Amino acid sequence: MTDTADRTTLTTDDPVAEVTAWLEANWDPDITVAEWWERLGTSGWAAPTWPVDAFGKGLAREDGVRVQRAISEFGALGAPGGLGLLLAGPTIATHGDDEQKQRYLRDIVTGQKAWCQLFSEPGAGSDLAGLQTRAVKDGDEWIVTGQKVWTSGGQVADLGMLIARTDPDVPKHQGITYFAIDMHQPGVEVRPLRELTGRAMFNEVFMTEARVPADAMIGGLNNGWAVANTTLMFERSGLGAGGGSEGASAATPGTIAADLPKRVGDFVVPRGSRRSGGGGGPTGLIGGASKLLVELAKGNGKIKDASVRQDLMKLHTLNEVGRYMSLRQKAAKAQGKDIPGLPNIAKLSMSEIMRQSRDIGLRIVGPYGTLHAYDGEQRKVLDEATGNPFLGMVTELSLFAQAPPIYGGTDQVQRNIIGERILGLPKEPANDRTLPFKELPKNG
Ligand SMILES: Cc1cc2nc3c(=O)[nH]c(=O)nc-3n(C[C@H](O)[C@H](O)[C@H](O)COP(=O)(O)OP(=O)(O)OC[C@H]3O[C@@H](n4cnc5c(N)ncnc54)[C@H](O)[C@@H]3O)c2cc1C
Repeated sequence: MTDTADRTTLTTDDPVAEVTAWLEANWDPDITVAEWWERLGTSGWAAPTWPVDAFGKGLAREDGVRVQRAISEFGALGAPGGLGLLLAGPTIATHGDDEQKQRYLRDIVTGQKAWCQLFSEPGAGSDLAGLQTRAVKDGDEWIVTGQKVWTSGGQVADLGMLIARTDPDVPKHQGITYFAIDMHQPGVEVRPLRELTGRAMFNEVFMTEARVPADAMIGGLNNGWAVANTTLMFERSGLGAGGGSEGASAATPGTIAADLPKRVGDFVVPRGSRRSGGGGGPTGLIGGASKLLVELAKGNGKIKDASVRQDLMKLHTLNEVGRYMSLRQKAAKAQGKDIPGLPNIAKLSMSEIMRQSRDIGLRIVGPYGTLHAYDGEQRKVLDEATGNPFLGMVTELSLFAQAPPIYGGTDQVQRNIIGERILGLPKEPANDRTLPFKELPKNG
């Protein structure tokens, strides 16, 4: 990597003190979002857990979370959120060559480019290796044709993490390649899908003879399954930790969202004027949900119900178990060890926390839980009618609670992985590891 001239490395073993000192010297609410993210990204504080030679500071995960929290508490805008920082960056830092790291990572940490994940297809979700989107070599390029679905953030993405079939003559896991595809081209069409929450966060993506240059192949030809598993590992451990939204940014990275030229100070809540109870979307509520629900139950008298108190205690216990799991992983990592299956267990546990938060939240708010606001105007009306500004958070979380047990690999798939790879249970009978992909029966 060459672009490291203005970057710093840790000079103390207290990253919170160090980032706070850095913020004192560098935060300026009157510059643009692009200028701020340029400072934050090139200093290493946007992705502090990434390696020092890849725009990070090599910090442990717990310290990374503390840094994110310190930036948010300081009242500065956090790192560019989204799948670039969460998934594409760490995958490219692991499998990309030096030129690719330089080309892609800098634009991720500075928020210049937004990414989406082009994995799932109408006939390939849990059975992801059964994907049918194909990439065919044409000189120095690959020509891609196929359909992806449930593509979160596809409508604002500049680049996509694409997995496509490059060899149908070998067993399905062996003929897949991982590419970085430019979403701004005539062969790529993005169509939004509306969700239960009222938002259209994810999309269908149609690729018709879309083009990818050969040097945008990540991790080598037909090695895409291994590279995709790296992405999924980061996805599961990120989600298991609550979506990594502690310092999630209120501005959207990339060229399409058009936040980059805006004044950065307009995207932050000034110090001392925040309300508690979480933020940054439904997964941002997870850590603060039990506290918020306790307050709600105290406020409307439901706390007197012993079964409500018991369920709140169960939720608190699950959150604490999750916290201890993450500390255990940290301790193991510090000794150079790994705890197999922990990301899968963490993801399962996060799904359970969401479900329990939904159920206890709806019990506490009672019939008001049938009311939901789908935009700011409706929220104002609902807040005035119910006198409860937190009702929207409960219903938002309740509507969203169906998603985490599905995305990043369903609960059933996590259990299969734990059963087969950790507990050593027999695999499901299948011949798809030996038969060429083209001879397998196809979904959809
Ligand atoms: C909010 C959200 C965001 C998403 N974002 C993205 C994204 O950005 N990019 C992307 O590529 N994908 C994304 N997805 C897609 C997600 O990864 C898939 O929905 C998921 O992998 C499941 O695939 P499927 O929907 O095809 O269900 P299927 O695989 O058809 O599964 C249907 C049901 O069968 C069960 N099942 C399937 N196989 C087995 C088995 N072997 N053993 C036991 N049970 C099984 C499943 O658990 C599930 O209950 C997103 C999904 C959601 C909900």
